[in-house]
Amino acid sequence: MNRIGKLYFRYGTMGSAKTAMLLTQAYNFEERGMAYLCFKPVIDTREDKNVIRSRIGIERECQWIYPDTNLYDTIRNIFDERGAIPAWLLIDEAQFLAPEQVDQLARVVDDFGCNVMCYGLRTDFTTRLFEGSRRLFEIADSIEEIKSTCTCGRKTIVNARIDSSGTILTEGAQVEIGGNDRYMAVCRKCWTNKRIERDTRNALPLEGL
Ligand SMILES: [Zn+2]
Repeated sequence: MNRIGKLYFRYGTMGSAKTAMLLTQAYNFEERGMAYLCFKPVIDTREDKNVIRSRIGIERECQWIYPDTNLYDTIRNIFDERGAIPAWLLIDEAQFLAPEQVDQLARVVDDFGCNVMCYGLRTDFTTRLFEGSRRLFEIADSIEEIKSTCTCGRKTIVNARIDSSGTILTEGAQVEIGGNDRYMAVCRKCWTNKRIERDTRNALPLEGL
């Protein structure tokens, strides 16, 4: 293969329009008659299958990536069937890829000359790297931050998990199914202040109760 592709990682917090960017990219490829494929790791099996959907209302079909999917084999099979691979592969929610699947994508880039564009979160609600994101930071050719702004004006850093009353939660499973409204992207300073407020409130004597 003479094509030279790249493995890209575009990361941002929740609400930074990553999915909208992916779908815009897909639209632009269609406008120019360029072939591409979309993929997304399966997290919530209650979701509509095979669709990447943005809050702004656009959507595209995608192939689902299961925890045991070998992405190199998947792409090689497409090559064997069609005799060619699209020049662009777009991956949504790339933080949920297994590290091995990121390695498989890197091999797809190197062996088939595709461009693989991964969109995802940097860290979970406890500010720790997701496994898939860690591997992308380690081996991607190109890394780009999609910035968004906290209500205070600083750059959002943390995907804070909140309960129904808006209190920040710092314990629980890394992935909670079906709770996208349970997150709020905030800057590091607001995250710290909100946790201090919460802990102060919890420490107050419950007078009058
Ligand atoms: Zn802030």
